[in-house]
Amino acid sequence: MNQQIYWHTTVQMPDDSNLTPLPSTMDVAVIGGGFTGLSAARTLAKRGVKVAVLEANTIGWGASSRNGGMTLTGLKPSMQTVIQRYGRDLAKQLFQVSLDSVDTVERVVKEENIDCGFARYGHLYVASKPHHFDGFNDEVGFMSKEFNHKVKVIPPNELRGEIGSSNYHGGIVDEVSGGLNPAQYVTGLAHAAEKAGATLHAQARVNKLERSGTRFVIQTTRGNISAEKVLVGTSGYTGSVTKKLQRKIIPIGSFIIATEKLSDDLARELSPKNRMIFDSMHYLNYFRLWDNRMIFGGRAAFFPENENTIRRSAEILRCEMIRVYPQLKDVKVEYVWGGTLDFAFDMMTHVGEMDGIYYSLGYAGHGVAMASHLGKTVAEAMLDGNIKDHPFAQFDFPGAPLGLYNGFPWFLPFAGAWQKILDWVE
Ligand SMILES: Cc1cc2nc3c(=O)[nH]c(=O)nc-3n(C[C@H](O)[C@H](O)[C@H](O)COP(=O)(O)OP(=O)(O)OC[C@H]3O[C@@H](n4cnc5c(N)ncnc54)[C@H](O)[C@@H]3O)c2cc1C
Repeated sequence: MNQQIYWHTTVQMPDDSNLTPLPSTMDVAVIGGGFTGLSAARTLAKRGVKVAVLEANTIGWGASSRNGGMTLTGLKPSMQTVIQRYGRDLAKQLFQVSLDSVDTVERVVKEENIDCGFARYGHLYVASKPHHFDGFNDEVGFMSKEFNHKVKVIPPNELRGEIGSSNYHGGIVDEVSGGLNPAQYVTGLAHAAEKAGATLHAQARVNKLERSGTRFVIQTTRGNISAEKVLVGTSGYTGSVTKKLQRKIIPIGSFIIATEKLSDDLARELSPKNRMIFDSMHYLNYFRLWDNRMIFGGRAAFFPENENTIRRSAEILRCEMIRVYPQLKDVKVEYVWGGTLDFAFDMMTHVGEMDGIYYSLGYAGHGVAMASHLGKTVAEAMLDGNIKDHPFAQFDFPGAPLGLYNGFPWFLPFAGAWQKILDWVE
């Protein structure tokens, strides 16, 4: 089995073979070359702004080319929780942003002619335990009444039309969600940003960020750059350069395996409608087909990716996949890889301005759609001066309770164990 990102074998990813010198002065410097940074850069460049993307590795290196490609509606916390916390009006706006986010991906893919297989496959949320299904009918009524959003309950006896597994106890389908190949998409987004006039700089890790009068001086591994405004889109890789933001973001590992190509018949049996599928556990599995391969992900280890966590995850995920789909018992797993997700302490996405620096972070597994859309809308707000009006800027961006976190997530093993306990009892 290769410790390699399968998606990277499907496209010529941007590389660092032809580095151009860093410009000395720009209007905007964007830190991070993923969906957030590239979407923002494309938007800014289209509005005539001189914008440079500074990326520590290669463009698209982070979560944006490693994810499951699920382009989902909704937020990480349930919409019932969102209403309880923020009230109906704001909850409606926040949910609408999630729908707009999927539209943004669809529109950008079409406008820029990005060949990444985007389609509205719909997502399927499956009940891992019989009693998890109990609330599904209420959930459908709630989403319809509060958000005018139609989702459909799939009772247990009809689930075979959606998934070739007897492991689950019913589901909910949301036809608005989509799916894509993330490496092809992020590569297309990079080309689109460049075509619009943005400059993209690989191997330009930002080491220091300082105010100098009305501007910022940004020290990178490839020289300094002066910019009037800065946007941080570093997601789960947010480091000590933006210490205040780092202390608000928990980096959490997520891992994926990809099987060899399956026969058409077997692929159709596993997922007849090509849905983006995820389950109702805290330690959840998410899976989907791409090019007749089963792409099966999960939070097999909590710590971010390294050789060790990836190797251990490969076996855990293979066992999980066979538990869901015994049909795959003898199928070869060809690839395994990992990446880092960004969770805020309230599980919400946050955008705003801190010490004059703009940010968009905390996608909690919803970044394919949200990072694409918020990169764009935060960029617009930077130009129009109205970031405070953004729906995702209307609530606090909390840090750790008692401030007990300096950027190293020492509590992850405990959090992981706690989630396993919750999965056992709930
Ligand atoms: C395994 C996995 C599966 C996932 N599945 C899904 C899914 O199916 N659906 C979904 O919606 N979301 C999913 N996600 C989450 C989604 O991929 C992310 O939310 C999204 O890609 C975030 O994009 P981004 O541009 O903000 O960050 P990233 O793509 O992570 O990019 C951040 C970049 O910042 C760079 N950087 C960091 N520090 C510096 C610095 N000091 N100087 C310069 N550059 C720096 C990093 O090198 C990195 O390339 C998944 C994530 C993972 C890891």
